[in-house]
Amino acid sequence: MPSADAIVIGAGLVGLALARELSRQGLRAEVYDAAAAGRGASWAGAGMLAAYQLTHPALRALGIASARLYPTWIRELELETGLNAGYRPSGSLVITSAARPAPSLMENGTGGWEHLSGDVSALEPGLCPGPGDEVWRVSGDHSIDNRALIAALLASLRDRGVPLHEHTMIESIEAGRDGLGVVARGVRRPAGFVINCAGAWTGQIRAPFTVTVRPRKGQMIALRSTHELRHVIAAPGVYLVPRAGGRILAGATLEDCGFDPEVSEATARGLQQRASALVPALAAAALESTWIGYRPCAPDGLPLLGPTPVPGYWLATAHFRDGILCAPITAKIVSSAMAKGHLTTALDLAPFRPERFTAFTAA
Ligand SMILES: Cc1cc2nc3c(=O)[nH]c(=O)nc-3n(C[C@H](O)[C@H](O)[C@H](O)COP(=O)(O)OP(=O)(O)OC[C@H]3O[C@@H](n4cnc5c(N)ncnc54)[C@H](O)[C@@H]3O)c2cc1C
Repeated sequence: MPSADAIVIGAGLVGLALARELSRQGLRAEVYDAAAAGRGASWAGAGMLAAYQLTHPALRALGIASARLYPTWIRELELETGLNAGYRPSGSLVITSAARPAPSLMENGTGGWEHLSGDVSALEPGLCPGPGDEVWRVSGDHSIDNRALIAALLASLRDRGVPLHEHTMIESIEAGRDGLGVVARGVRRPAGFVINCAGAWTGQIRAPFTVTVRPRKGQMIALRSTHELRHVIAAPGVYLVPRAGGRILAGATLEDCGFDPEVSEATARGLQQRASALVPALAAAALESTWIGYRPCAPDGLPLLGPTPVPGYWLATAHFRDGILCAPITAKIVSSAMAKGHLTTALDLAPFRPERFTAFTAA
């Protein structure tokens, strides 16, 4: 009998959130990460929970479902661990230039778009939109301190006794006559379910069902400033995300250059310039740090979420620009399917089916 009901490959936010939900459902989960836990895209991201800015209908529905889970999910996690995950339900401001957002986005009501006319300085002091710019308030789009969230999830897994094997790369996933298993350091570990949550590295693991997931590099900066932002601000070419303690994140590039670890000073300067054009007080901010991360991207930019044709082998990956947003709903959908033995959700997951581009590669 396998020692684990489920093996989760990858300790990013998706894998960590999933392992916690599996444990909450009474399943024995184990997590493996090739490196230190939570140091992939989930560490690099900005933490915007921008569900109401998504345009693909099924992804938007998934994102909104996840955004709705966030407040309770975070409250329970914080109560359980005593750690603050930096959830800020303060809404976002979106600045558009000539082209307005698509009409389908401009819903009234919860989370909807509200056009702000006239002076916005009472709402967001120091914000200077350009001439002709339009400013919108998106009340349902919040933010989370993703690094604090990782720390809280790790504490939860520790308290729950969920084994976490760091610096242990899964080399392959095997479906043999004796069931499913993963191989790490040449040793086979059996499990009832294996869930590949390896982000941009998903396709590098040898498996009986293969998928293509490519890295999309993003570089970001953190500024230290006495100027405080009240909202996340998203504008063409730059977004700003306030954090505790006088930090403001500005991002991000979107580069198709493979696993290129270079951090560019010129890019960092460019991000600060664009941030200062939007909020002039940020010209005086100190550039505290800059880093890169790899967004996991499937060929159509949509998540790979659901069972593969290999019994027990699931994918929960390729969330591209929205994995921090979508971690809670992904964890909930996958863990409850595993606990109940079948997938039940009112959400349309068809666009995310793992088989949509790849053939079943092995018997
Ligand atoms: C600059 C930037 C800004 C972003 N901003 C946002 C944002 O504002 N909002 C949002 O929702 N999303 C954002 N994202 C996207 C988001 O960060 C990702 O979609 C999300 O973090 C993906 O999570 P993950 O757990 O799938 O992957 P990761 O966090 O990358 O975790 C994958 C893990 O798998 C491990 N792994 C790899 N290979 C193996 C193996 N063979 N065996 C075991 N472990 C393995 C890795 O070491 C890693 O820890 C941003 C991303 C970037 C780069």
